[in-house]
Amino acid sequence: MSDPNAPSFEPSFRESVDIMFNRAVALMDLPPGLEEKIRVCNATYTVRFGVRLRGKIETFTGYRSVHSEHMEPVKGGIRFSLGVNQNEVEALAALMSYKCALVETPFGGSKGGLCIDPRAWDDDEMEKITRRFAYELIKRDLINPSQNVPAPDMGTGEREMAWIADQYKRMNTTDINGAACVTGKPINAGGIQGRVEATGRGVQYALQEFFRHPEDIKAAGLSGTLDGKRIVVQGLGNVGYHAAKFLSEEDGSIITGIIERDGALTEAGGLDVEAVHKWIAKNGGIKDYPGATYVKDGAKVLELDCDILIPAALEGVINMGNAANVKAPLIIEAANGPVTAGADEFLREKGCVIIPDMYANAGGVTVSYFEWVKNLSHIRFGRMQRRQEEARHELIVGELQRLSEHLGDQWSMTPNFKQKYLRGAGELELVRSGLDDTMRTAYQAMREVWHSRDDVHDLRTAAYLVSIGRIASSYKAKGL
Ligand code: GLU
Repeated sequence: MSDPNAPSFEPSFRESVDIMFNRAVALMDLPPGLEEKIRVCNATYTVRFGVRLRGKIETFTGYRSVHSEHMEPVKGGIRFSLGVNQNEVEALAALMSYKCALVETPFGGSKGGLCIDPRAWDDDEMEKITRRFAYELIKRDLINPSQNVPAPDMGTGEREMAWIADQYKRMNTTDINGAACVTGKPINAGGIQGRVEATGRGVQYALQEFFRHPEDIKAAGLSGTLDGKRIVVQGLGNVGYHAAKFLSEEDGSIITGIIERDGALTEAGGLDVEAVHKWIAKNGGIKDYPGATYVKDGAKVLELDCDILIPAALEGVINMGNAANVKAPLIIEAANGPVTAGADEFLREKGCVIIPDMYANAGGVTVSYFEWVKNLSHIRFGRMQRRQEEARHELIVGELQRLSEHLGDQWSMTPNFKQKYLRGAGELELVRSGLDDTMRTAYQAMREVWHSRDDVHDLRTAAYLVSIGRIASSYKAKGL
């Protein structure tokens, strides 16, 4: 049955998010007006500032948009890209609200962006620009540990977050919780183990959870496990690289295609993700990488016959222009908004299962939440318990050893058990465990709605229903 909310034109990213939102709220019974309250962006601040560079004043435009303050602080990355504009930042801020609600991180949604090509400026210049942008946001409390906590996004990383944290501390010298004003910082500046890999790791955990449910695997027309599945990854940035690396090295999946800015590589037997990543770092692109077929028109590889497609770069890459040619029966949206609402409608009708962005890439904000908690508690996770846990394990292992000596060789412990069991969990193990638990729980909340309601036919609508329901409850609890 055709969807009355389906677009007959190619919607913008912002429109796509609203169309998907509208499709979900049409199935809900919200109090009058609350739907509109949740959909709109509360505020978007635009700043134009000048920085003296190379002998002249350069003017930059930046944004910080706050979508929903049903919980504070609000949370979301800062993107550095020439494509940044108000509509994009607002769409991304809205997705942050839904994402945080879905994975139960206690934040509202926000997003920021600066119109800049970060590769056009050297390190010192980037530091000057980033600090100046941060200054503009800090002085308006748009960066603040209890109100608005940015993080990395496209074009930014640990380096920029360290500058922002330092800028905040310079302007708030007595704020003991200053480090919590931004997440995604390097370890030596208050960061947390496992934040850099977190979004890619979350994609891996999401797929692992999907493959624990035979009914869902069947819905995608697939069978078996992740082992041997042919995967095409679009974008080998932080998210795509880690997802592809973990899936191929730990789950036995085969990366048959990698799409990058300057074209794509295909290899039916599987690409070595680490080697391709090193090649890009050294040569600036994938062209001439030995041992794989190079395809100049990279976008064509989105249409390659494969089991799983992972768009991990920009929004809108799967659209009404190419959706009909996409063959993957399962798409996991590692990027924000990679499938337009038009393409989504087409692919759904075709039976393709899409694991939606607000869930699939929530690993980043989940580990950001752990980092924020770490900064507020001023102590590394595991510091108090680790050795005590090891001492208790030591007791058990000692007892088992005594028993097996008494009972004979056939009762001895299996090799490696002792060594593995004795090791108490450090920060990285705890972060991964918390992330895995989050990804499993959120998936189960989505699939429960997907399978229990006759009027819900896809995971994206289910995800919106769960998160809008949670946001609505917190508005209601506030008396709105
Ligand atoms: N920029 C990431 C996202 O889109 C991370 C946000 C965060 O950690 O706050 O989810």
